[in-house]
Amino acid sequence: MITLYNTLTRQKEIFTPLKKVVTMYSCGPTVYHDVHIGNHRSFLIADLLKRTLLANKLPVKHIMNITDVGHLTDDGDAGQDKLEVGAARENKTAWEVARHYEAGFKKDLKALNIIRPKKFTRATENIKIQIALVKKLEALGHTYRTSDGIYFDSTTIENYGALAGLQHVDLQAGSRISIGEKKHETDFALWKFSPAGTKRQMEWKSPWGVGFPGWHIECSAMAMKYLGETIDIHTGGIDLIPVHHTNEIAQSEAASGKQFARFWMHSAFVLEHDQKISKSKGDFKTLQWITDHGFSPLDYRYLTLQTHYRKELNFTLEGLEGARRARQQFVALVTGAPKRGMILPTVYADFLSALTDDLNAPRGLGILWDMIHSDAAPADKRATLLLADKILGLNLAKEKRLKLTTTKLPKEIAKLAEQRVIARETKDWAGADHLRTELLARGYSVTDTPEGQVVARMI
Ligand SMILES: [Zn+2]
Repeated sequence: MITLYNTLTRQKEIFTPLKKVVTMYSCGPTVYHDVHIGNHRSFLIADLLKRTLLANKLPVKHIMNITDVGHLTDDGDAGQDKLEVGAARENKTAWEVARHYEAGFKKDLKALNIIRPKKFTRATENIKIQIALVKKLEALGHTYRTSDGIYFDSTTIENYGALAGLQHVDLQAGSRISIGEKKHETDFALWKFSPAGTKRQMEWKSPWGVGFPGWHIECSAMAMKYLGETIDIHTGGIDLIPVHHTNEIAQSEAASGKQFARFWMHSAFVLEHDQKISKSKGDFKTLQWITDHGFSPLDYRYLTLQTHYRKELNFTLEGLEGARRARQQFVALVTGAPKRGMILPTVYADFLSALTDDLNAPRGLGILWDMIHSDAAPADKRATLLLADKILGLNLAKEKRLKLTTTKLPKEIAKLAEQRVIARETKDWAGADHLRTELLARGYSVTDTPEGQVVARMI
């Protein structure tokens, strides 16, 4: 039995698919910049969900979109298209920027051992179905025209904002921002016109005029095209709830008259120094940053498994260090223990039931650590860990025995490293921790492996 927390009902519910195959849609990246590790968390969680469903013998049809047009810098339909911003920043065309960052994103997914969706769907390759959906909404009386586009009238449907727990009255009363020609603050663009006298790099003809689709309409159109009018599970980051997902529901359900997604699953933010990681701050951490600092992308994957997906994850270098140590102990067991062990059925059953209980990966890891510290045969521990890893996705079966890097350390660093070895040998744990902090502060990471301490330069 699988239970999942549904944002729509704000409770855990038993999940069963509508048909034989689970239909799953994940909002993908806007490809105008590198994806930061906060966004990657939501893709890792979608992957954990998919692997959990597969481990429960449920086939999954998974679609992920690539937003390569129409996502504006301002959620309220103002601002510039992010792709054009990226193009100006890099002195490239919007098309070049889109393809470049899409390729980078796919490379990241591979490095994180995320199972590829059945299909990546680009907004720019699905313009026709987006126009068709807007036409349908227009025919049903849900739209109106302003000087800059075609808008969805959010008061033409009941329950607008139910996903976010928004209330129309509050929104209207609390509205202080200028809404321009929009009739209501919560109305949103379905189609935007290219500004008069200018030619955008990405624009298409439509029954209403030359322009480009709004951001939200792409997800509704592509989800319904590839997965049907009612899908089983829709995933995304928690930041998408109030506007993007709320609007996806509004326009999809207005068009089809059916429930759009049965389960909405949202992963919480990654924080750094108690603040949300976001691109707008300029300095943001990417997977490249992780590898540049001597970590594997899979260390980050392990880190995300240590916190339940609905809780905020505080990202620190020490936390990542801890994740690496833990993952390397897994690797040491898989590469070091004898092969041909038997799976420990109770351990695996407990592990699986933790994951099927709303993806409780931290509890699942705890169960595996209890097993590792138990007196079960190493070969059996190994077999069980490898089976569990089909869900965790740490790619343990592919890992080779760890090689120790022998970088030459500056004298003072070598001295601190040596003091730490002595501290550990004399079981002076506080002293060893203090020396680790000291080494970290000087830009060196410390990892304790079964073969000994490894000190490496981070930057
Ligand atoms: Zn979306």
